[in-house]
Amino acid sequence: MLNQKQFILAAVNILSIWAAQSEAAHFHIKDLAKTVLHMDTLSDWTISTVLVSFGYVMSFLLTAGAFEYTNPKVKDEKRMAIIKLELQYGIGSLVWISIYATTWLFLVDAHTPYYAYFATHDYTFTWLLINVAWYLFWMDTFFYWSHRLLHMTKPINLWFLVHRHHHQFVDPTAFGQDAVHPLEALLQGPVPHFLTFVFMPMHPLTASVLGFFTSIYAIAAHDGRRFDLNDHVKHHHYKNVNFGLYWGLWDYICGTRWSKQGHPDRIKFEWNYDGLAGDKIQKAE
Ligand SMILES: [Zn+2]
Ligand SMILES: [Zn+2]
Repeated sequence: MLNQKQFILAAVNILSIWAAQSEAAHFHIKDLAKTVLHMDTLSDWTISTVLVSFGYVMSFLLTAGAFEYTNPKVKDEKRMAIIKLELQYGIGSLVWISIYATTWLFLVDAHTPYYAYFATHDYTFTWLLINVAWYLFWMDTFFYWSHRLLHMTKPINLWFLVHRHHHQFVDPTAFGQDAVHPLEALLQGPVPHFLTFVFMPMHPLTASVLGFFTSIYAIAAHDGRRFDLNDHVKHHHYKNVNFGLYWGLWDYICGTRWSKQGHPDRIKFEWNYDGLAGDKIQKAE
């Protein structure tokens, strides 16, 4: 049986998915196999952008809020200040993501090679499995290598220009997921998400569900209780480890995966509910 907090977490997650799908007001069932959002005019685009922004922000606030509510760490002044800063960055990023998403659907989507493929071909269970496997592999691969790029300091100092904003949160909260520079928000979210359509027939609803799954997974990865497979918070502590999105595939291949042997005692990570775990962390260089 679910305890009270687990029940609240589950309920709020369901609500957040509903909120994120608030653009359903604009959703045409008959066009499901073609596109999730059907946009013909600039006014369609404007309405969609407002609704999608609202949906994304609500989904982010409710999901991250549920994680933070159930996180036993004390909500002292320091933690509330971190959350406030994360929210400032996060809400701004989500608006940019929404604009990119609806602009892609409005201007580019219909010109991709496999657009409306499943309007004329059956969407079988095999296709669903291929779509899921391809999406997860592609997103993780793109995220890993673009993330490595964002840590680059020469010849262009992308670290300073873009990525340091996210790394100011050495001990992030769930709200830290979207606390990034707008360029990073696009590069690691909607850019690879919509490119999945370009290389292979992809059902738009499958992509949409996987997109929301990814954002909820990434919110969980910043919570600090290690809900994700690649221990993303270690990336915030050490900077040069655990670059991957869902799991440690590329980190294992490229030798960037965190290990106790590789990082002896630089960090004493304890669950100290009387204060921020970050107080006990020797900050990464
Ligand atoms: Zn992060
Ligand atoms: Zn990083």
